[in-house]
Amino acid sequence: MIRTLLTSTKMIGPTAPTRVRTLSRFKVVLVVLAGCFIVSAAYLSWLIAERQARLERVSRLDVAWVANKAESEFFRLQQTLLAYRTGTGGVNADDVVLRFDIIHSRFKMLTEGDFGAFARSGAEIQRTADRLNEIRTAVEPFINRLEEPGAADQAAALLEPIETLLPSLVGTANQYVAGLITEDHASLSGLHRTFTLMMLGMIACGFALMAFMKLQNDRLENAHDEVQELARNLSHLAHYDAMTGLANRVLFREHLNSELDALRSRGQPSTVLYLDLDGFKKVNDRLGHAAGDELLRAVAKRLQHSIRPSDVAARLGGDEFAVLLRDTLSVEVAESIAQRIIGAVSAPILLDRQEVSIGISIGIFVAKDRSLTGDKIMRRADKALYQAKSEGRGRYRLFDTIPQPDQKVA
Ligand code: GH3
Ligand code: MG
Repeated sequence: MIRTLLTSTKMIGPTAPTRVRTLSRFKVVLVVLAGCFIVSAAYLSWLIAERQARLERVSRLDVAWVANKAESEFFRLQQTLLAYRTGTGGVNADDVVLRFDIIHSRFKMLTEGDFGAFARSGAEIQRTADRLNEIRTAVEPFINRLEEPGAADQAAALLEPIETLLPSLVGTANQYVAGLITEDHASLSGLHRTFTLMMLGMIACGFALMAFMKLQNDRLENAHDEVQELARNLSHLAHYDAMTGLANRVLFREHLNSELDALRSRGQPSTVLYLDLDGFKKVNDRLGHAAGDELLRAVAKRLQHSIRPSDVAARLGGDEFAVLLRDTLSVEVAESIAQRIIGAVSAPILLDRQEVSIGISIGIFVAKDRSLTGDKIMRRADKALYQAKSEGRGRYRLFDTIPQPDQKVA
């Protein structure tokens, strides 16, 4: 039995530490994956913020818009001034002043906000912007007294350099914006690539995690099955005799106790046969311990075949066996079964190509009294067995028929 138990524990012996190592590895992988997710999530937030910043930079397109608007307003002022000077199109001085005011506000924008920043970024641009404002300041007095002779012509002459200054400023602004757009586009593409890679990485991590969980789950299921199998084996070892496969002393007592419950509740008698082989030591001595074991197995089989399936045969230890006959109908039935067992066991047994005969003695106790305990029943059956042995072996004896000197058998 101990050997079998050791074999069973070997089943989990080498695999248990491996499993513990696998579990710790699993924890490490989980921590690493969780770390990856946290870092990825943080990086994604940064990416989104960065993308937002890049998109905001696109608002610098205003720079080109401001320059273009200033240019178009300037040409409209020139046209209005020309119409005023030539007296065509019904243009009056107020129209020219209105156009000049618009130009005034447009040129002011060249020094403020995003355009101001853009202008300050380059000396040439700044010079152009300053020059434009200088011209505007110089022209203003003539615009304010347009009705005076020659004032309109003077204003037109002063405005003339703007015709070349503004287009060059517009060109620079457009180039600047185009450069920004290219730069932002490249930067956004880079961010997009990184974002895609991160997402793919996270999806791959998710799949890896699921695969790992599945693997671990399978392993746990296998371990669970093994533990259940082991528990079944251990339970079997605790209740059955490893050599003969019969019930052991523990299981026999469990059956006897439930039989006693039946006796107490229904008054149904049951019988215990206590059996011991006769001269078994000699078999061991003559043929060896292994042959002795073989004989014990053969006896167990014969015992099992001599009783009903509902009865219980057990090996109590050594060459001692016990049988529990449930719901014994009569003492005679118990006696006939004992006799049948003696006949079956005594028939020659082939051991290592040798025929061996072994006898068996049986003590019988039929339990009818509801106050009996399992111990008492076993002791009485054992006493009857002792009687059978002392009367010459190879026979059975009923406890109730043996002489009892002190009339008190515990
Ligand atoms: P008796 O007729 O008085 O019963 O004598 P016996 O020779 O049968 O010997 P006894 O019942 O007193 O002792 C049983 C012997 O069985 C003792 C031991 O050497 C042997 N034995 C006990 N367990 C085993 C076992 O597992 N295998 C084998 N082969 N022998 C065992
Ligand atoms: Mg014996």
